[in-house]
Amino acid sequence: MKITDVKATILKLPVIREIADSTQDALVVQIFTDEGYVGLGEVDSSPYIAKAVIDAPRSHSLCCGLRELLIGEDPFKIDYLWEKMYEGTIFFGRRGVAINAISGIDIALHDIKGQALGVPIYTLLGGPYQDSMRAYASSLMPDTVEECYNHAAELAQQGFSAIKFGWGPLGQNPALDVALVKAMRKGAGENVDILLDVGFGWKRSDHAIEMTKRIAEYRPFWIEEPLFPDDLDGYARLADSTEIRIAAGEEDCTRYGFRELIERGKVDVIQPDVTRAGGLSEVKKIAAMAQQKGLPCVTHVWSTSIIQAASLHLNVSIPNSLFLEFCVRESPLNKDLITNPFKLEDGRIRVPQEPGLGVKLNMEILEKYALR
Ligand SMILES: [Mg+2]
Repeated sequence: MKITDVKATILKLPVIREIADSTQDALVVQIFTDEGYVGLGEVDSSPYIAKAVIDAPRSHSLCCGLRELLIGEDPFKIDYLWEKMYEGTIFFGRRGVAINAISGIDIALHDIKGQALGVPIYTLLGGPYQDSMRAYASSLMPDTVEECYNHAAELAQQGFSAIKFGWGPLGQNPALDVALVKAMRKGAGENVDILLDVGFGWKRSDHAIEMTKRIAEYRPFWIEEPLFPDDLDGYARLADSTEIRIAAGEEDCTRYGFRELIERGKVDVIQPDVTRAGGLSEVKKIAAMAQQKGLPCVTHVWSTSIIQAASLHLNVSIPNSLFLEFCVRESPLNKDLITNPFKLEDGRIRVPQEPGLGVKLNMEILEKYALR
């Protein structure tokens, strides 16, 4: 089998708001083959820049767009192609958007291989350890204490056994941060795990250490990204100061980046994103590195149902996952982009059983939101 084309399609809602919600646009990757299989993947990044990484013509031997590196290649040779893309983009890549784009390609290659062999991707990854994942509801932190209480109560009622709120007003006012976490605990009830995503809002480690002490009585399961991703020494000071789990990693890429986060940042939970950190191949390696250190790997998942499918296959194929992050934002790109959207059953989401990713694009939605 040979790769004949790679297509990157930008999807975009009519209005983009300045909030931390990456369901407002998306980059869908399709890899075409001479045997008729079409692999599907996604990149959660700037879709405009990631598309350029795919479409760019060659500048020289270490500086080339992904499409040109892939045409004519055998899509089954996934590890070989990953290294070819890494090396072929190293002049401008190594981290960030180049690796984000490679991630979408890597997912689509797995989709092709699974379809051609007639097996779900989790089989290619050595799984499953389980047929479904416990899901945590993931949403933005509401602006007021009352809305926060109501939103947590509503999600607990829907059957989620864990709920995360993040970004929004967090980090602007210490007293409000504490009041919001208190309201979240009250709304969710005593038996639901609550997770807090500070979205770099606490900025300095001394402030983060103090805030962590102030919210400890509400028993957050983890505190996510309290500091900027590059403040690894700050993360280490914070992690050393508290019993509460510190989680981070959604901005990080490759085994090399995660080695730094684990060894220098000393975080308790790592959160690679399969559409950003290097794809399924790389996140499997990152999860194995975390396992060696006794750490859970809980993938970051937002954006569309394509990332949800890819993340499910990955999460059921590693021994150290805890939950599936399940974005509950109401965006058509999140809810309607595939014909068989994921549904919560007893607080869990089932992994697709069909070959490859096991999801089909809703072409009407794709056409409706595609940027031309
Ligand atoms: Mg986050």
